[in-house]
Amino acid sequence: LDKFNCQAKTFEHISLQIKDYQISRIGCLLFDKIGNLWIGTRDGLFRLSFDKNKKVSRVVHFMKDGKRSNSITDNYITSLFEDSKGAIWIGTYGFGINKFESEKEGGIFSAFTMDDGLPNNIIYTISEDNGGYIWITTDYGLCRFNEKTKRFKNFFISDGLQNNKYYWNAAFKNLDGKLYVGGLNGLNAFYPDSILDKRANIFPVTITDFKIYNEPVRPLVKYNGKVAVKKSISCTSEITISYKSQEISFEFSALDYEQSNSIKYAYLLEGFEAKWHEVSSDRRFAIYTNLEPGTYHFMVKSTNRNGDWGKNIAQVKLTVVPPFWKTWWFKVLLGVIIIALILFYNRYRVYSLERQKRKLEKQVLERTAKIEEQKEKLQLQNTEIQNQQNQLIKLNEEVVSANEFKLNFFTNISHEFRTPLTLIIDPIESLINSATTSNSIKETLTLVHKNTQRLLHLINQLMDFRKIEQGKMRLHISKVNANEFIENIVLSFSSLATQMSIGLQFVPLDTESEIWIDCQKIEDILYNLLSNAFKNTPNNGEIEVKLFSGIESPLNTMNISVADTGIGINEEQLPLIFNRFYQIESKTNNPIGTGIGLSLTKELIECHKGSIKVESTPGCGSRFVVSIPVSQESYAIVDFTEPNYEPTKLVKQVSNFADELLSYSSIENAGQQLYTTIENRPVVLIVEDNNDLRSFIAARLNKTYNILVADNGKSGFSIASSNYPDVIVSDIMMPEMNGLELCAKIKTSLITSHIPVLLLTAKAEIKDEIKGLETGADCYLPKPFDFDLLEAHISSLIEIRKKLFERFLYQKELDTKVLATNSLDEQFLAQVTESIQENIDNPELNVATLAKKMLISRGHLYKKLQSLSNLPPTDFINNIRLKKSLELLHNINHNISEIAYSVGYTDPKYFSRLFKKQFGLSPSEYQEHLQSSKSPLA
Ligand code: ADP
Repeated sequence: LDKFNCQAKTFEHISLQIKDYQISRIGCLLFDKIGNLWIGTRDGLFRLSFDKNKKVSRVVHFMKDGKRSNSITDNYITSLFEDSKGAIWIGTYGFGINKFESEKEGGIFSAFTMDDGLPNNIIYTISEDNGGYIWITTDYGLCRFNEKTKRFKNFFISDGLQNNKYYWNAAFKNLDGKLYVGGLNGLNAFYPDSILDKRANIFPVTITDFKIYNEPVRPLVKYNGKVAVKKSISCTSEITISYKSQEISFEFSALDYEQSNSIKYAYLLEGFEAKWHEVSSDRRFAIYTNLEPGTYHFMVKSTNRNGDWGKNIAQVKLTVVPPFWKTWWFKVLLGVIIIALILFYNRYRVYSLERQKRKLEKQVLERTAKIEEQKEKLQLQNTEIQNQQNQLIKLNEEVVSANEFKLNFFTNISHEFRTPLTLIIDPIESLINSATTSNSIKETLTLVHKNTQRLLHLINQLMDFRKIEQGKMRLHISKVNANEFIENIVLSFSSLATQMSIGLQFVPLDTESEIWIDCQKIEDILYNLLSNAFKNTPNNGEIEVKLFSGIESPLNTMNISVADTGIGINEEQLPLIFNRFYQIESKTNNPIGTGIGLSLTKELIECHKGSIKVESTPGCGSRFVVSIPVSQESYAIVDFTEPNYEPTKLVKQVSNFADELLSYSSIENAGQQLYTTIENRPVVLIVEDNNDLRSFIAARLNKTYNILVADNGKSGFSIASSNYPDVIVSDIMMPEMNGLELCAKIKTSLITSHIPVLLLTAKAEIKDEIKGLETGADCYLPKPFDFDLLEAHISSLIEIRKKLFERFLYQKELDTKVLATNSLDEQFLAQVTESIQENIDNPELNVATLAKKMLISRGHLYKKLQSLSNLPPTDFINNIRLKKSLELLHNINHNISEIAYSVGYTDPKYFSRLFKKQFGLSPSEYQEHLQSSKSPLA
């Protein structure tokens, strides 16, 4: 280090004044305002102070101290500078700049390097402009340092400088404040205060494009039904898109075309996000997908080239139009509609409830009125019914009294019948017993006697009923021996039992007992039960009467059982048999009876303070059990009246009953042979189950007709089909097969269909008459019938048939229809006639060949033809042959022999004889008459 004296033109060796330090490799020097000399070397920084004699008084050496962070950054010093405020700045070679702070601790410096903003750490010059900025030239770039803000601003070739590399100590400021810096490529001079920092310019940002699904949006074009922008995007402030535009993108740019790479951008979609997105200049777009409908603001801003954010923000309003159902107006409308509906529904409900209420009220009123009306009607009806009831009661009373009157009258008259009946019976009995009476008269008288007895019995039964009804039936209790008394009654039936081969048993009480009973009533009861048993038990059956007591002793109740092995009674009919006039209708039971017996028996038993029970098995038999009290104590004193019992009466009664029963039980009793048969008289078949009536009718008709008899429809039919009667007279109510069934069978079977049927019945109703005629009955007579009328009917039926026979015989036409009275016969006759006509030229044609053709037996054909035409079949065939020849004779071309042959006669003479017999003229005479056009057979 030397000091040059300008006047003396000499050097003063300063180094000699410094003993402790070797100052060499000096790069730069600086005198500060207070007179210190700062020396920058490659071995640190020295500061030399001088005394008054301008001799070095003090030397301070500042070196980099690795242990301290605030020591100088490097020992290689390149430049030194004192600023306007007196601060010393030190530039280093590779370690930035240092500012001297104090000399304590070997020197305290504040350092600035590239880390703080320097463009390069190799420093060439440090200077200060008039504005107080520190200017630093470096190995790469010029730098302006603001000490207050500690901010560096660097300038490069791009800022218009000659080069980025500068020279040592090549910096100067002139008096105007113009700064000169020298570098590798020359010199730059400038006024620092007039530097326009282009980089600090913030260029306006604009939105350059808007895309929907990556397609640039054009003005006034609809995208998903919406015009997005009306003007070009850069001029627009509002974008409207449909909710359907799910992907959109914005593109933007700052209007700096030189340095756009150093610009940064930031964007934000307000309403969608809160944070700005920073992007570099090569990513100048923003993409959004699935934006909810609503209003957004898209904002974008940029930095200047220095990276400072400008306040200039481009923004556009983005409206995503919602679907109509998400629009507010739609929601409001919906709300309004819902509210309206609710209101309407409420009003409607209220209205309908009110209407219903009104309706109900109306209905209630109506119903009430109706009920009132009905009530009134009912009341009216009630009074009417009451009136009617009263009338009925009155009427009933009248009926009862009329009935009473009638019954009284009936009882009285019945009573009146008894005397005359007795008066009839007695003389008849004496007549029957008289030796002078002829047998035939005796027979008739017996019939009269029997029926008179029956009538008397019936009248007695009816009077008993009446008595019981009127409470006039008295008990006549007396003491008898039980076994003896009952056995006597049973014994009266023993002869009937023998005749019917019925085993009659009596089982007495074990001990002989005296009992208290009304003998007449017990006898009547037993008679009824036993007669029923006989009526309903077939021959060879068993009837048993058994006495047995209850368990008590002495004997208080006695039981009498009457059991038979008869036909029995159905379970359903059991409760009915004690009803008055109830009879079981059956094909096999005996028709004797009135239906009074059991009902009277029951009343009599009840009158006797007893009871009756019945058990029965159909087909096996029945058992009636009568229980009666038999002790003296059981009866009141009034019951012990004078006995009215006549033991002899029973024997007669049973004998009458036996007669009647036996007369029904077999037809053989009144056999066919009893009636006289005279040849050629018409035959009448009488079908009637009542022997007496049958015999009576038969006896009367026998005077004019031959008689056949049957006791029921079944035997009637078999007799009719083997005997071909001319007329059938039949009853309707009969066992086995009734009259209607018989008639139907007769009329539908070929053998018998021609026989006229006359039905007799007690049923006089017209309904039955029709039923009778429907079955094909020819005539119908209600019972009781007038006998003359019956005879007239029979003779007319026979007469009609006779007329038919004659008509057939003498008519010239071949018409057999006239003989038929029903379709079956008509058919039969048509068939026979056809068969004959088919073989009319066959002389061999006879009954046998005809029967073969007709497929019926010869006998049947014979009988049937005979009955239908009253002609033997040979005559019938001849009749047809002759009628046919009559037809042929009308053709004059035929000669008589030809005709004779063609109608089956081998001998024309025989034919002529027969012809003459039939028609009264010979065939030739007949032809002559024909030719003279006279009616030949007038
Ligand atoms: P009826 O005069 O017809 O005998 P009842 O009153 O004596 O009348 O009897 C009523 C009916 O009871 C009869 O029609 C008969 O069919 C039936 N009946 C009575 N007793 C017997 C019996 N022992 N066996 C079968 N049936 C009987």
